[in-house]
Amino acid sequence: MSKRLLITAIVLLMILIGLMGFKFAGMVSESESDHTASVSDTESSENQETSDSEIEENIDSSAEESAESTSETEYDPEQDSRFFDTDSYLICANKKHPLPDGYEPSDLAWPEVDVVSARFTLRWDAAVALEEMFAAAAEDGVTLLLQSGYRSAEYQSQLWNYYAGLYGADDADTISSRPGYSDHQTGLAADIGSASNPSADLTQSFIDTAEGQWLYKHAYEYGFIMRYPVGKQDITGYAYEPWHYRYIGVEEATAIYTTDPDLSFEEYYGISGGDYAD
Ligand SMILES: [Zn+2]
Repeated sequence: MSKRLLITAIVLLMILIGLMGFKFAGMVSESESDHTASVSDTESSENQETSDSEIEENIDSSAEESAESTSETEYDPEQDSRFFDTDSYLICANKKHPLPDGYEPSDLAWPEVDVVSARFTLRWDAAVALEEMFAAAAEDGVTLLLQSGYRSAEYQSQLWNYYAGLYGADDADTISSRPGYSDHQTGLAADIGSASNPSADLTQSFIDTAEGQWLYKHAYEYGFIMRYPVGKQDITGYAYEPWHYRYIGVEEATAIYTTDPDLSFEEYYGISGGDYAD
């Protein structure tokens, strides 16, 4: 009896173990299928991510393309006629931008101002502005003198040859322009001398004279900028010339001066300058 009971118990136990084992296997397979499902979920979400990032890349590249196409039509000062039209007061003459061959302004006039030795012409509006500037300085007790104004290509050639004979061609290039490249040939440039200290004329110590200081502070009010500011030789192509002022009109001169009094024309407008190309 007890033996039959034991057999029955063993059989029941085996059935139970069998059932449990079956159940356990089912659990494993369920969890495996869960796992499979979760992997495929991950894969599909990765696929989703991939396709999202592909879309983002497409958006990025189309943004880049539109940026590129924008840059193709972006403002280029080298193509701006204000700097190359000889009628413009922003006409650029530097070692990278010569004036048209044989250029001579058609509206040259003689400003009625005190001079160092010889009289010079300037383009009409520049001449009028120069007279106003000299008169305003005189009211402040400062006597400006005109040292140089418009210089023709021929005159510039003689001047450059003179300096080249004295110092050699390389040094002549740092203080005088080759014909066709001179700011003076625009008819908009004036070299200004000092009545209080003539020995400072055409030297960098001109900035320390009453005339140099007055011009530095007020020239922009009459449309003139210091064309060759201190420390900008690599950009303008010329050493510091605190006596050389260039007429560009009151609005433009004020814009440059109020940005930075020592900013060069080339820097402000983004025009190339520096040394001769050859
Ligand atoms: Zn000059």
